Amino acid sequence: LREFAEATWAFGDAPFLVGEDGAAYTYQEFLRAACGLARRLADVYGLRPGDRAVIAGRNHPEWQVAFWAAQLAGLVAVPLNAWWTADECAYALDDCAPGALLVDDERASLLGGWAARNGVPCLDFREATHGDGDDVAPPAVDVLPDDDATILYTSGTTGHPKGAVATHRAQVAAAINPRYQAAAAALDRGALPGTGRAPVSLTTFPFFHAAAFTSVYAVMAVGGTLVMMRKWDAAKALDLIDLHRVTHYAGVPTTALQLLDAAAGQRLATLTNLNTGGAPAPPALVRRLAEAYGDRIEPRNGYGLTETCGGVLAHYGEAYRRRPDSVGRPTPVTETRVAGPDGRPLPDGETGELLLRGQSLVRGYWRDPEATAAAFTADGWFRTGDLAVVREDGRVSVVDRIKDVVIRGGENVYCVEVEAALYGHPAIAEAAVLGVPHPVLGEEVAAVVRLRGGPGAVTAEELRAHVARGLAAYKVPAHVVVRDVPLPRNAGGKVLKDELRRSYARVGE
Ligand code: ATP
Repeated sequence: LREFAEATWAFGDAPFLVGEDGAAYTYQEFLRAACGLARRLADVYGLRPGDRAVIAGRNHPEWQVAFWAAQLAGLVAVPLNAWWTADECAYALDDCAPGALLVDDERASLLGGWAARNGVPCLDFREATHGDGDDVAPPAVDVLPDDDATILYTSGTTGHPKGAVATHRAQVAAAINPRYQAAAAALDRGALPGTGRAPVSLTTFPFFHAAAFTSVYAVMAVGGTLVMMRKWDAAKALDLIDLHRVTHYAGVPTTALQLLDAAAGQRLATLTNLNTGGAPAPPALVRRLAEAYGDRIEPRNGYGLTETCGGVLAHYGEAYRRRPDSVGRPTPVTETRVAGPDGRPLPDGETGELLLRGQSLVRGYWRDPEATAAAFTADGWFRTGDLAVVREDGRVSVVDRIKDVVIRGGENVYCVEVEAALYGHPAIAEAAVLGVPHPVLGEEVAAVVRLRGGPGAVTAEELRAHVARGLAAYKVPAHVVVRDVPLPRNAGGKVLKDELRRSYARVGE
């Protein structure tokens, strides 16, 4: 990754990082600041290759400066979830035992106590990166491909956060993925890859999330511009798109839907790509995009996990419009397999657990050999915990997370399918399907929805009838709960179903 960063010097004074408040870094300003901070970490604070440097903050330009400074110094960058409380952060800090914390002002007060107690320097990355010298030489350290580059904590919707450790080799493989996708998508349109102006990407994934890495790499590889927001706000996103002539939008499906709603078919004049990832994208998203903008804005869907260092299956363009319930094909550094409960590969068309193998996979979990052993099969396949099916055209559809499948009287109901049906109704702003206990069936299907037009926009009965037109009766939610506040989500954009299950456990009684 060190060389990946250094290579961006060639983009000179092209704009690279643009903050929500307008703060901007050209490529060379960025590298100067990153090298300066890297030297400070090495020379003043005595950090050595392999030491961990935590990066904790909202999406600011200096977040990227701090991350790449860590890489230039040979440190292991540990991006922390900016949504975490002090206690949640302390768990990860105790776990990875960093030699420095690089934080924004909000995190400075949150983590200052931990830093003082442990005698670890805590630097405000927004101050530390200014005036760090004109010299672009990074510290003279050796970084090898199999050295650790990053630790990303999985967000913990399945228990305690685990630190997923990626080597430089894995991150560089991950950095190749978006390039390949962009080139393949361009070829798909009959354009030459690499032609056209450098992308201006509004990336709303939080930088500490693996999905953001895919966007950042895509931009850095071609000298594009990364426009960012401190906090998601659809109206502000529309303004930033106009102001910076944004060509690529990247975010979770929920924000993309909100963006389309806010644009109301009018704005987004400069946009050419709408990229989503990190959570299932309802087919209605692709349909709404095509209805409003025809084929001017290309939809893309990237599937990946923290453990794959970002997107490793991709779907785009016409193929995605034709088959909107798919995540596409694996990128060249990735192999896929769908396996039955006994671990044996299943033929195409059968549903089983999606296993992944390839260069961009993490090497395991930080100091947790048991969790590492449980996550991989003996022959090195990573268990995603997702159920998937390979279609006849070789494209993969993710049907549900294994732990979310509703088993209703012995029949499997895949939430993603029922959610997709709900999103097909124009009144749906958000939908989550989950199992609630049932005395006879074991579980019954319930849906929690938020409506576009307020709680009275449509009745539960109408929604059930809408789902029943496309799906078998046993999949139709027996209970539909309408909420007028957004569904609880993690920083990766996924609905916190455990939280919903707890709130609605009694709904069926
Ligand atoms: P934890 O692993 O602790 O539960 P998390 O779910 O937020 O936390 P991530 O690694 O961010 O961890 O999420 C990966 C999961 O997100 C995948 O296993 C899959 O279920 C889902 N996902 C990601 N991208 C897509 C996509 N394009 N379509 C459908 N599902 C997706």
